[in-house]
Amino acid sequence: MQMIPHNKVGLIAADLRAVESVLASGWIAQGPAAQALEADFVRRFGSGAACALSSGTAALFLALKGLGAGPGESVAVPTYACSALLNAIFMVGATPRVVDVRPDDFCLNPDAVMRQAADARFVIAVHAFGAPADVAGLQIRGRRVVEDCCQALGGETALGGLGTQGEAAVFSFYATKIVTGGQGGLLWSRDPAVAEAARDYRQFDCRETYVPRFNFQMTDIQAALVNSQMTRLAAIRTRRATIVGRYLDALPPGLTAQAGLGDMGRMVYRCAVLVPDRESREALRAHLTAAGIGCIVPVERFELLHRYLNLDPENYPVAERLADTALSLPLYPALSDAEVEQVCLALQGFRP
Ligand SMILES: *Cc1c(COP(=O)(O)O)cnc(C)c1O
Repeated sequence: MQMIPHNKVGLIAADLRAVESVLASGWIAQGPAAQALEADFVRRFGSGAACALSSGTAALFLALKGLGAGPGESVAVPTYACSALLNAIFMVGATPRVVDVRPDDFCLNPDAVMRQAADARFVIAVHAFGAPADVAGLQIRGRRVVEDCCQALGGETALGGLGTQGEAAVFSFYATKIVTGGQGGLLWSRDPAVAEAARDYRQFDCRETYVPRFNFQMTDIQAALVNSQMTRLAAIRTRRATIVGRYLDALPPGLTAQAGLGDMGRMVYRCAVLVPDRESREALRAHLTAAGIGCIVPVERFELLHRYLNLDPENYPVAERLADTALSLPLYPALSDAEVEQVCLALQGFRP
């Protein structure tokens, strides 16, 4: 039986041609393609400035640095996220304040920020699996918000494109993300000075004066790959939404999913279904695997940020529960209709 992988890169002939033309041009380091990517983001967002980078983590680091997070400052982060957030915070010398999430959309709970991160002047608001975090609810008391759009590129709400509400937004072009360059990242900031500082920082060569910088550049090979996929971002969103709609229709009684998966404008990065407990999650995983369907636990219990930092799990009941009960289904434009049907049939045949 042919296994349906949980994730698969969906490059098309036009993407390969875009890379080929950069290779043939003789300029493969950061250059015109990276600049075009930056211009594309500024045009899409209608303001601000952008800086193409080597990874989403580099973008997080430079966003925090540019907004003034450093030693003596703390940064609120959702615990149901990835350790890249902690890495960026420690890299600027700030202190993470790990906060629990909301059970419906898996995003930062603004009330929990008040309880668990009262002193934090900065927040990394992750749009978890594409779900829009409550940026306005986090911006109170002068808190500065970095929108982590690594899982939400191209998502929109009634307020506009995700990334445009906070002080800065970061994106990742890692292989499993919505659009990929193999690796890569981008920082957009409302205040152009933040992205400009990042552009200065990423390039060390041939500078008149010395200050510490670091090579965080994206190559034009990566940028060409990203630019080519960006032209079909709307189609990627539609295809993902169509697949998710079919999965939701096929969910048997007892299974639910992250809230809002069918919302207009949502870029669904992951289709996370929820079962009642850890035992039924393992049963669902075994059932789907036997049916030839690759699925993953999107955030394992040991990956929860409060566990990495040895904080008391009792203070993070929602994330602890999500880590036990969520399972992610295959979701990418390269899935064929027949494969989607195979997933639906397997879901319908599961009894929790
Ligand atoms: C992938 C990801 C990152 C890190 O991006 P890299 O390009 O892998 O460094 C950060 N935050 C979130 C939410 C991500 O999904």
